Amino acid sequence: MPDQGKKPSTNKKPSKNSEDAKESEDGAISYCSMENCLFRGPMKACARCKSAWYCSVQCQKKHWELHKPICNHILEHIQRTPEEPLLDRHLRHWSTRFEATMLNACIRGLNLKHEWDRIEKEGLVILLQPRPHSHLGSRLHIQRAGVYKIEVIHSMLDAVGVNAEHRNRLLPLQMEARQRLQERTHGFADQAYIFAIARNDGPNAIEGRHPSALRILTPAVYKPQVVSMPMTEYDGDWLQDLKDQIHNDRPMQHKPLQKLVIHRAEYLSSR
Ligand SMILES: [Zn+2]
Ligand SMILES: [Zn+2]
Repeated sequence: MPDQGKKPSTNKKPSKNSEDAKESEDGAISYCSMENCLFRGPMKACARCKSAWYCSVQCQKKHWELHKPICNHILEHIQRTPEEPLLDRHLRHWSTRFEATMLNACIRGLNLKHEWDRIEKEGLVILLQPRPHSHLGSRLHIQRAGVYKIEVIHSMLDAVGVNAEHRNRLLPLQMEARQRLQERTHGFADQAYIFAIARNDGPNAIEGRHPSALRILTPAVYKPQVVSMPMTEYDGDWLQDLKDQIHNDRPMQHKPLQKLVIHRAEYLSSR
């Protein structure tokens, strides 16, 4: 069992610590990785992989069985590079800041409220480029975004030059976790697939060669929660909303879906 990432760990370069610490205090992540956790609020990252977020040590412990294989793989991948590449670092902070924003865009983009089954075969892809910004978590902006079939996404990832070995090992692990999630929630929960890719191009490309960075986010999504989303949250042009939120650095906060908590609570108490 790893510790929760309360403080920047001592094995990091001191020069990065102050900015990283500031970022984590913002607590933009709002969804606990533990699938049936009702808590909405600032979360703490898994100190090992920084790719899962928890409201409490209890939730982290309950989720460990599902998370362990993915955590180990990401950790191994991180350890192979002595220093975190710049685009990876920017993407890590960006993903933390815009996690709720991306999940919302994914739910709306796939029209899951009315077409729940699309979650099985499609995902959200966001291509990002560097931009100057005062906030560490907002130094990427959208070049292109859309929803695609998972098979299509595979070939897109080949084309943008992300580390194939990393991805080819990560995806099956996530598929396994997904199956176990479906089993342990009796089909009430599934994983959304969100692929965030940062490439070093565009007018503000960083000097030098920087390999593309990829983060695959797979937040748990509850069917009862999505199906009963209020239309006011759901209507409108999701892609334009996503672009505006990123462009103006306005990450979604953990406000949405209060009503749906009732459904989840009902479901949980009926188990
Ligand atoms: Zn939790
Ligand atoms: Zn982890």
